[in-house]
Amino acid sequence: VSKFQYLDDIKDIVFHQNTNLEKYTTTKLSCEGDIVIVKSIIALQKLIIELHNHSQKYHLVGWGANQILHNTHSTLFIKLDFNFDRNILAKARDEYVLPASTSLNVLTSHAQKYGLRGWEVFTGIPATLGGAIFMNAGTALGEIGQLIKEVMVLNSEGNLFTYQIQKNDFSYRRNNFLKPGDIILQATMIHFGIDPQVKIEIANYLAYRKETQPLTTKNCGCIFKNVGNEHKAGQYIDVLGLKGVSLSGLRLSKLHANFIENINGAKPEDFCELVDIIQYELEAFCGIKFELEAKIY
Ligand SMILES: Cc1cc2nc3c(=O)[nH]c(=O)nc-3n(C[C@H](O)[C@H](O)[C@H](O)COP(=O)(O)OP(=O)(O)OC[C@H]3O[C@@H](n4cnc5c(N)ncnc54)[C@H](O)[C@@H]3O)c2cc1C
Repeated sequence: VSKFQYLDDIKDIVFHQNTNLEKYTTTKLSCEGDIVIVKSIIALQKLIIELHNHSQKYHLVGWGANQILHNTHSTLFIKLDFNFDRNILAKARDEYVLPASTSLNVLTSHAQKYGLRGWEVFTGIPATLGGAIFMNAGTALGEIGQLIKEVMVLNSEGNLFTYQIQKNDFSYRRNNFLKPGDIILQATMIHFGIDPQVKIEIANYLAYRKETQPLTTKNCGCIFKNVGNEHKAGQYIDVLGLKGVSLSGLRLSKLHANFIENINGAKPEDFCELVDIIQYELEAFCGIKFELEAKIY
């Protein structure tokens, strides 16, 4: 009998038990686990209440572009796949209410079409809206946090609430307002007016990213956070001579040394081991303990 039998009665979910989680993250590391795909807010609320009653741990997966799933044994992974009404993007609006599972590249296309000032800041970031808000994803052009007005959240006890974003709710690659277990369901996004120049900026930034980042390999973006503007992890890894080096099916990208690519069937434990080695080498070399930007769960 499955320990998750209590999920059988919930409609609008698809449950995969003991499945390979490879396809749920962009690094595609091979490991087994349990994941549930949730198609509606009501289903999610029922699910969370059941998990709460059964003291079952859970963890959200968005696009999987910033995380490595390592401790998969006792956790149920949750992926949102909410219905998205394309009519929302049929014209330019002052505000957009969007489900957390919306992919950022759909929003970038919209911004490019209508010239939404502010939306250029997340150009080219592979993400769902929920994951991007959680991470306060951003580029050299700015961060997504400045575009979020309000979020609808479900907490770990199954209570729904709307939260108005305030000053200081975001900092570098993090949010400061979600509590452990909180799930972002949808967000209200704003922009700073219509400006045709945005189209050109987005096109230029996409081209720039193509040249400077490995966008077609299996990776999870930058591994380490930079320390201020002067200490760039990628540059130090390069100076250490580690750029392009491979180990256990992984490689430090030849294009950008702060990216680790899965080139041959690597596993999460191989990834963690390599991260530890690089972190140790970096600290020995320049005395800085670089914090992880990618999340190892
Ligand atoms: C090639 C490449 C380039 C990248 N470039 C950039 C870049 O320029 N700038 C940048 O900031 N990032 C970059 N990243 C990293 C990544 O794209 C971002 O961090 C992105 O915001 C992750 O979104 P996601 O949907 O994939 O979230 P995930 O990686 O799946 O999750 C990230 C965190 O958010 C939590 N989460 C996800 N959804 C929800 C939700 N609905 N409610 C609550 N919590 C949730 C997860 O539990 C996890 O802790 C890059 C990644 C890749 C692979």
